[in-house]
Amino acid sequence: FQHLRTVNKAEVGQTFKAGIVNGNLGRATVIHMDDKGITLSTQLDQAPPKPLPVTLLLAMPRPKMLKRTLETIATMGVKHLILINSYRVDKSYWSTPLLSDQAVAEFLTLGLEQAGDTLMPKVEIKKRFKPFVEDELPALMQNKTGWVAHPYNAQPCPPAADTPTLLAIGPEGGFIEYEVDKLQAAGLTPIHLGSRILRVETAVPVLLSRLFPIF
Ligand code: SAH
Repeated sequence: FQHLRTVNKAEVGQTFKAGIVNGNLGRATVIHMDDKGITLSTQLDQAPPKPLPVTLLLAMPRPKMLKRTLETIATMGVKHLILINSYRVDKSYWSTPLLSDQAVAEFLTLGLEQAGDTLMPKVEIKKRFKPFVEDELPALMQNKTGWVAHPYNAQPCPPAADTPTLLAIGPEGGFIEYEVDKLQAAGLTPIHLGSRILRVETAVPVLLSRLFPIF
């Protein structure tokens, strides 16, 4: 309502793109509006766009980067994000208020709105690397191809494929060799994007657009 009023300067009779969280998309027409609220008549007859077939395992970024990354992954169609601890993740990152359910939902919603999507991604938090990789990752890897983005001792990024995939992306300091070894033991193959080291906020969209076809 606030956005329609202040940014779009909506008036009775105008039509906007609309969608219901985890529901359909379509159009909404303003039929009444005053200072307290707005009444919309909706026609929601389109399904949301196809999700990317990926589970993204991301080392917890620093708060500012977390916000941007949550928006980006929602915009690009990731529906399952797992934030993991890693040796080079600063412990203080885990206590950021940006990780509250409410804040995460807000950033994801911004990302979905940008894309014209309604399916809310699921975000999980795993603060212990070793138990997660040893006890939970093998089950998650069932029927998936697993990649870990790592600039060293890796094969070139493979061509795009529309198949179930698990992709791990490291922290700003990179994964340590022990972590890459553990991820490899769980079935992930190291891939690189060339010798240029990309920031996490760049590596995420580059990897997603290289690994998956445009639907
Ligand atoms: N500071 C580290 C790199 C960290 S970049 C170093 O200099 O080695 C952050 C993460 O982005 C990496 O862990 C990796 O998952 C991904 N990434 C960045 N550039 C990459 C590249 N050229 N190839 C593969 N992965 C890359």
